[in-house]
Amino acid sequence: MELIDLHTHSNASDGTFAPAEVVRLAKVGGLKAFALTDHDTVEGLAEAMAAGEKYGVEVIPGVEVSARFPGGSMHILGLGIEYGNGQLGERLAVLQKARAERNPQIIAKLNGLGVKITFEQVEKISGRGQMGRPHIARALMESGYVRSIQEAFDIFLRNDGKAYVPKFRFPPQEAIAMIRDVQGVPVLAHPFTLNLGSAFALKSTLTELEALGLAGIEAIYAEHTPEQEALYLRLARELGLLVTGGSDFHGDNKPELTLGKMRGQERLTYRLVTALKDWRRREYGLHG
Ligand code: AMP
Ligand code: ZN
Ligand code: FE
Ligand code: FE
Repeated sequence: MELIDLHTHSNASDGTFAPAEVVRLAKVGGLKAFALTDHDTVEGLAEAMAAGEKYGVEVIPGVEVSARFPGGSMHILGLGIEYGNGQLGERLAVLQKARAERNPQIIAKLNGLGVKITFEQVEKISGRGQMGRPHIARALMESGYVRSIQEAFDIFLRNDGKAYVPKFRFPPQEAIAMIRDVQGVPVLAHPFTLNLGSAFALKSTLTELEALGLAGIEAIYAEHTPEQEALYLRLARELGLLVTGGSDFHGDNKPELTLGKMRGQERLTYRLVTALKDWRRREYGLHG
């Protein structure tokens, strides 16, 4: 079987492995193709593409963009993007600036709660990549305030946590447009994080997103239950959306997730990549 993984992170954002290392792990794991989809950045893609050539793994250039969605988190994956495009860079720079302003605010809030971690400490953890909450979570763990990254989120960092600070996000139509403008395939990541209570509510949201240009849904995902997976596959069929899937691999920042390994992975084969490529060719009139 030709296995794939269409959702992974490197240390260009909040994974712990360098882009070339993620490619090597994909090779070791027997994947034919995988997408590197760092949060709000394409900085890891050149290295990953080069490593893909070296190891003989097909690397699909991607990105994961958060969009505004009251009541839940909406993440849009852009797969097969022309990542060198300057306009994409400018739009991502807006999100990177929003992050850079938010991180010190989170740390200040933690300090106000008597939690003594410093910006310098978190900077050392994030290294060359852009800083995000998982790095702050790791600092909290290393300083002994929590036992795990998950506990750091549960107590302090998640959306209703004690040190949460909101961050600027583009509305869904702009997140989708910035991906389409660089010939990418926009896909709704891990639909359960929208926190919609019913299949009906999810279907109407998907219908709205499809009208804005959404092309696919990440039906197969490490943390989906069998019921969720079945629902997302059914909605994809009913709405004519592409199906994708991935592990959301983050290295040691999410130790429970393994590249290319997840429940439902037998459905995650190379024919989904072929469908993505066909869609891109049709939609954007591309050749080859
Ligand atoms: P940020 O980019 O700083 O907003 O952080 C986003 C990262 O934090 C992503 O990798 C998420 O998977 C992770 N994250 C967000 N919420 C949670 C949560 N409740 N538990 C664990 N990880 C989370
Ligand atoms: Zn992440
Ligand atoms: Fe996500
Ligand atoms: Fe992700």
